[in-house]
Amino acid sequence: MASDVPSPAADRAGGILTIDPSAVAENYRRVLRVIGPGVKAAAAVKADAYGLGVENIAPALYGAGCRHFFVAHLAEGMVLRPLLPSDASVLVLHGPPPGTAGDLHAAGLIPVLNSPDQIAEWSALAQSRESSLPAVVQIDSGMARFGLSEADLHGLARKSDALSGIDVSLVMSHLACADEPEHPANRAQLLQFERLRGLLPPAPYSLAASSGLFLGSDWHFDLVRPGAALYGVNPTPYALSPVCPVIRLSARVIQTRDVQAGQAVGYGAAFVAGRASRIALLGIGYGDGYLRSAGGRARVSLPSHPELHLPVTGRISMDSLCVDVTGAPEGLIREGVLLDLIGPHLSIDEAASSAGTIGYELLTGLGGRYHRVIL
Ligand SMILES: *Cc1c(COP(=O)(O)O)cnc(C)c1O
Repeated sequence: MASDVPSPAADRAGGILTIDPSAVAENYRRVLRVIGPGVKAAAAVKADAYGLGVENIAPALYGAGCRHFFVAHLAEGMVLRPLLPSDASVLVLHGPPPGTAGDLHAAGLIPVLNSPDQIAEWSALAQSRESSLPAVVQIDSGMARFGLSEADLHGLARKSDALSGIDVSLVMSHLACADEPEHPANRAQLLQFERLRGLLPPAPYSLAASSGLFLGSDWHFDLVRPGAALYGVNPTPYALSPVCPVIRLSARVIQTRDVQAGQAVGYGAAFVAGRASRIALLGIGYGDGYLRSAGGRARVSLPSHPELHLPVTGRISMDSLCVDVTGAPEGLIREGVLLDLIGPHLSIDEAASSAGTIGYELLTGLGGRYHRVIL
């Protein structure tokens, strides 16, 4: 990732969030290499492409060959649809809320149907239009979250016309434990998916998201649906990341101060300097989605010194945080210098783990105050 060149607008913000859509495209191509020919890769672009801005990310993925885009909500689909050429499908994971099937169809979107009621509403719409309408049908293979239960599927199978007018373009399910390859739920869900899909008309199948597609070809079926991996979150937390970083989050040093041993720093006097220390104040805080739980645990890195990681000390405030820069070479940390909270030498996974969470939550929570640079 190229390092950003601060602009006047960047100087006015507390932090700079640099987003590299070409790195997203590169990660999409890495996914294609993992699944090999014959399997397609969709992209999950819900939650504004995991907080990175769907208007930049979706076209980059389209350019890399992606033609299937999953959002969560109808409203998200309506924003995305006009941003993509017509040969791309926009699929709505939550399906139509009651009474909205007509809107969903009119917006050119394809629903994921999760319940008998959603199926009934989509089928009624198709029949009223005397046409057949495409839809994805989701099965619950053991996660007990979205999708038709085994009982629902038997109920549908008993009613010969339950799916009438519905062109089932994909049958999908979702894995609960794919980031733990040894977890027995993975194989159990695979077997349950293979068993239950027999209760529906034959269609292309999809089971795996980012982590699932690294479980092996048994989990690939016809289509995989990565999200997080495309955005640089390690889908294999048990191994080195197979994907490249997509974002850099930097903040400017606002002020530095020397403190004596015994001096408390920040709210709650939660950090007390054990020795004479130099503290730098950065203009990012929990109001920007840099989680308060990372206080005293996270590290920042200095772009010019990759090996140097400096600790975030004391509590994280709404608009600022303190870094103990005592270990940095003399004169390096001055007002205006940019430090990375996430960057080439400090992964999103590490930053998230410091906050006791996962890259997904950190990404989707990144706030609106940053100066955003789209490379
Ligand atoms: C969010 C989501 C995905 C993408 O998941 P990642 O773990 O981010 O790859 C795929 N399928 C479904 C049903 C989802 O909800």
